[in-house]
Amino acid sequence: MNHAEMESVASFRLRAREWLSANMPRIEDRETVVASDDDTAEFVRARELQHKLYDGGFAGIVFPAEYGGLGLTPAHQAAFTEESVSYEMPLKLNVPSLSICAATILDLGTEEQKLQHVTAAIRGDEVLAQFLSEPRGGSDLAGVTTRAVRDGDTWILNGAKTWSSSAYAADFALCLARTDWDAPKHRGLTMFLVPTKAPGITMRRIRQVTGSNEFCEEFFDDVILPDDAVVGGVNNGWAVASRQLYHEKVAVGGGSPFASGAGLGTVQTTIPTPVDIARMLDRTGEPGVRELVGEWYARRLVSLSLIDRVSAALKSGVLPPPAASLMRLFTAEQDWFTHDVALEVSDGYAATGIAGDDGTLLGVSVHYLGRQIGSLGGGSTEMARNIISERMLGMPREFAADRDVPFNQVRQGAR
Ligand SMILES: Cc1cc2nc3c(=O)[nH]c(=O)nc-3n(C[C@H](O)[C@H](O)[C@H](O)COP(=O)(O)OP(=O)(O)OC[C@H]3O[C@@H](n4cnc5c(N)ncnc54)[C@H](O)[C@@H]3O)c2cc1C
Repeated sequence: MNHAEMESVASFRLRAREWLSANMPRIEDRETVVASDDDTAEFVRARELQHKLYDGGFAGIVFPAEYGGLGLTPAHQAAFTEESVSYEMPLKLNVPSLSICAATILDLGTEEQKLQHVTAAIRGDEVLAQFLSEPRGGSDLAGVTTRAVRDGDTWILNGAKTWSSSAYAADFALCLARTDWDAPKHRGLTMFLVPTKAPGITMRRIRQVTGSNEFCEEFFDDVILPDDAVVGGVNNGWAVASRQLYHEKVAVGGGSPFASGAGLGTVQTTIPTPVDIARMLDRTGEPGVRELVGEWYARRLVSLSLIDRVSAALKSGVLPPPAASLMRLFTAEQDWFTHDVALEVSDGYAATGIAGDDGTLLGVSVHYLGRQIGSLGGGSTEMARNIISERMLGMPREFAADRDVPFNQVRQGAR
C-alpha cells in the first residue's frame, strides 16, 4: 500500500472508536471477570478477543497485509491503542507472542513460516513463546547447551529450558539450540520453531513468591523436529536470537508497534499509581508523600518521552538497534521505583488493606514482591548497561575467556 492509498490516522481513529464501542466489552461492564490466578482461562479469553479484533479488521495493525495484518503505521497502532484503553483487550498476547516472536518470524522466518505462524498469531489461533534461558543461566544466552543433532531430514532435540513466560498456553516456541560444537559459541547455534506439545517435551510450571505460576520449565528428550522448523538458517541462530532480543527490549521497554492495547497484563492486575494510593489514603497533603509522588511523576514523564524519542530514532536509523537497551534499562528502573513508592505511600495498609477496599492495596504488596521482574526479563539490567557502554559508548569490551574458542573446548561448570 503506498502512502496515498493509506487511510489517514484521523479517519482510522474514528473508525476504531466506533467499532470498539459497538464490539468490544467495556472494562467496567464486564459480566464475568476472569480470576487473575486462572491463567488458562485468561488465555482462552485473550484468544477470543483477538478473534474479535481480527474479524473486525483491527488485528495486526502494523503487520503486512500478506501475513494477515493491516500494513499500517505505528501511528495507526498508537491511535488504536489510545482508543482501546477503556475496553477489554487481548493484552496477554502482546508479550511475547506478537511483539517478540511474531515480529522475529516476520523479520527472519521463511515465507511458509510467516504465512503459517504470523497469520495464525494475528488471528488469535496460535500463541508463541520463547525457549531461550537455561538452568545454567540466561545472561550468557550464546552459551546454551540444549543440542539439536541432524538425523536425515529431521533434527533430534535434547536439553532443558526455563523461565519460559506463559509457555503452558503456547502452541509453538522459538527455541535456541546448539548445532555445531566445533564452532565458537555464537556461531554454532540454530533457532527452531518447536511445537510445545511435541512428544518428548515435559513442561512444568514454576510457582513464584507472588503466587504467579506463569513461568514454565521444559525438558526435551529426543524431540523430533522437521527440517523446516529451522528459523533463519542452520548455525545462524545467534542472528535470530539477537533480533528476538531486540524486539524483546523494545517490547519490554514499552515501545513495540506490534503490541496492541495499553499494558502487558490483564486489566485486573493493573496496580494503582502512587497518586491513586495517596488519594485513597487521603495523604495528598503530606509533604513527604508529595515529594515522593512528585519524583515518581517526573520520572514517569521522562520515561514516556524517552520511549517516544528512542522508538522514533530506532525506526529512522538515527540510533542503532543496541539503543533499545536504553528503553529497557530506564523502564526497569522506573518500574522498580514505582513499586517502592507505591509501597511507601501505602504504608502498613499494603499489608492490612483498608475497610471497603477491593484488595487494591493488598495488591501493592504482592506486586512489590515481584518488583525485580523488570530488571531481569528481556535480559538483566546489568547486561543492558554492558550493551549501552560497549556498543553505544564504545567502551572496552568485557573480557570473555570463551571468545573465538570452539565451544567443545570451553570449560563448563566444574569441568
Ligand atoms: C518476567 C520475566 C520473563 C521472562 N521470560 C522469559 C521467556 O519467555 N523465555 C526465556 O527463555 N527466558 C525468560 N526469562 C528469563 C530471562 O531472560 C533471564 O532471567 C535473564 O536473561 C537473566 O538470566 P538469569 O536469570 O539466568 O540470570 P544469570 O544470567 O544467572 O545472572 C545472574 C545475575 O548476574 C548478573 N550477570 C550475569 N552476567 C553478567 C555480566 N557479564 N556482567 C554483569 N552482570 C552479569 C545478571 O545481571 C544477574 O543480576 C524471563 C525472565 C523474567 C524475569
